[in-house]
Formats: sequence, structure tokens, C-alpha cells
Amino acid sequence: MLSAEQIINYQASSDCLKDRIIFITGAGDGIGKAAALACAQAGATVILAGRTVAKLEEVYDQISDAGLAEPNIYPINFEGAIADDYDVLAVTLDQQFGRLDGLLHNAGILGQRTPLSHYRQDVWDKVLQVNLTAPFQMTQALMPVLEKSDDASVVFTSSGVGRTSRAFWGAYAVSKFAIEGMVQTWAAELGGLGTVRVNAINPGATATDMRAQAFPAEDPTRLKSAEAIMPMYLYLLGPDSKTINGQSINAQSR
Ligand code: NDP
Repeated sequence: MLSAEQIINYQASSDCLKDRIIFITGAGDGIGKAAALACAQAGATVILAGRTVAKLEEVYDQISDAGLAEPNIYPINFEGAIADDYDVLAVTLDQQFGRLDGLLHNAGILGQRTPLSHYRQDVWDKVLQVNLTAPFQMTQALMPVLEKSDDASVVFTSSGVGRTSRAFWGAYAVSKFAIEGMVQTWAAELGGLGTVRVNAINPGATATDMRAQAFPAEDPTRLKSAEAIMPMYLYLLGPDSKTINGQSINAQSR
């Protein structure tokens, strides 16, 4: 097992995800887009999932134009998706690939930045649906396909406010605390039983649309880019983290 310092400075080999099948949610923008490109560059066949097909097509074209393994697009909107939709996804992946080696739950929404006493119920429901319920239902449905892999990695996305909350982060912070708890629960249930491991990643402050929405006055050039935090994603999705289970890992040192 790598030390905390080695993990944060991890450099992936250029083919660390060779021949792996990796499903990435929110792959059309921000961190998910960078993850899709990084995984494809590292040899994976990526399935690009998200709600805006035009964005997914752009990522598809970038991967295809670079001569990397042909990606796939899976349009899905986590606001409206129900358990049956994830069962259909499981059957589709099983039929097309026969297994799943990586599942990156990256899609998320910020919701309102407002006191809990004024938080709108409809926004609360939407944030918990997209950030928490959808990744739970998807993981549950895809577990049999993940179990067909010799070395499957499920990565949930947390946040600093999922560990220590702050005022006005509302349902977003609550959803990320719940993600941390769910990772520990999955990991405790799966640990040592088979080949599937479950961890969380905290990207840290990263220059994306969501970050700009949360901190509109911030200078994004002072932040890490999504591309710069990819080593930790490759680590958690690749073979070097095979023994890591139930951890919540920072993608940045600060
Ligand atoms: P972005 O807003 O840039 O990207 C979010 C992605 O999620 C987009 O591709 C978006 O699709 C997709 N998405 C949102 N809602 C849905 C939905 N209902 N159905 C399907 N897809 C959806 O955010 P980031 O890249 O910054 O965030 C990625 C993850 O990292 C999130 O889980 C976030 O909470 C977490 N995070 C980010 C930090 C940061 O500083 N950026 C810090 C800590 C955590 P579309 O493009 O179509 O809107």
C-alpha cells in the first residue's frame, strides 16, 4: 500500500487502464470530462454517461480523433432515472462487454447556497436524488456486472463539505456526508469477499462550472484544473489501488 504522500504524488503508467471497461457519470463536462479523456488515454474503453448528449459527443470525438479505444455514449438524466433504468443499464453493459472494471460516480449538482431554514424542498429532493440516490441505485444494479471483473473499482465523489460542513452548503453537504457513509457501508459489506472495491475521492477546489457557481468572485486561474487532479483518479480506478477499500482520498494536497 502506498503512503499518503505517495498517493498524492502518484504518477500513473501510460497504459494503467489497458483493456478496462470504465463507466463515468457526468462525463460531458468538468472533472468527468477530464476523467473520461484521462482514462481513455490510459487504455480504457470508456462509457460516457450524462444528460447533455451534445457534450458527450464532443468528448467522444476527442477520444476517437486521438485514435484511442472507441468510447460509448449512454444518455441518462439522474433527476428522473428510476431503479428500472439502472437494471436496463446493467443488462446493456453485460451484453456489450460481459463485465465492468470501473464505475466513477462523478455527476453532481450544487443546489442552493442558502441557510437550511430557507432551503427549498424541491431543490433538496433534486440534490439528494442526483448526488446520492442515483449513485446508490446504479451501484446496486451494476454490482453483478462489476463482480464479473477480476479487479473492479467503484469511485464515489465526495467533497470537503462532506467531511466538515459549512454554513449555506445545504443539501449538497448533506449528500456528500451520506456518500462518505455509503462508501464505508459498501466497503464493509464487500471487503475481502470478492474483487470489487469501493472508495471515495474528494477532488478539492477545481476550476469547473460548479466551482464557479459556488464561488463566483474567485479567480479560476488560481485553482487546479480538472486535468491536474487526474493522477488520483487513475490511481483509484487502476490496479495499483487494488487493496484500497473503504477509503476517502484527496485528489489534492491542499
Ligand atoms: P460540473 O458542474 O462541471 O459537472 C457536473 C457534471 O454532472 C456535468 O457533466 C453535468 O452534466 C452532470 N450532471 C449534473 N446533473 C446531472 C443529471 N441530472 N443527470 C446526469 N448528469 C448530470 O461539476 P464538477 O466537474 O466540478 O464536479 C464533478 C464532481 O466533483 C461533483 O460530484 C462535485 O460535487 C464534485 N466536486 C467538485 C469540486 C470542484 O471544486 N469542482 C470540489 C469537490 C467536489 P451537464 O454538463 O449536462 O450539466
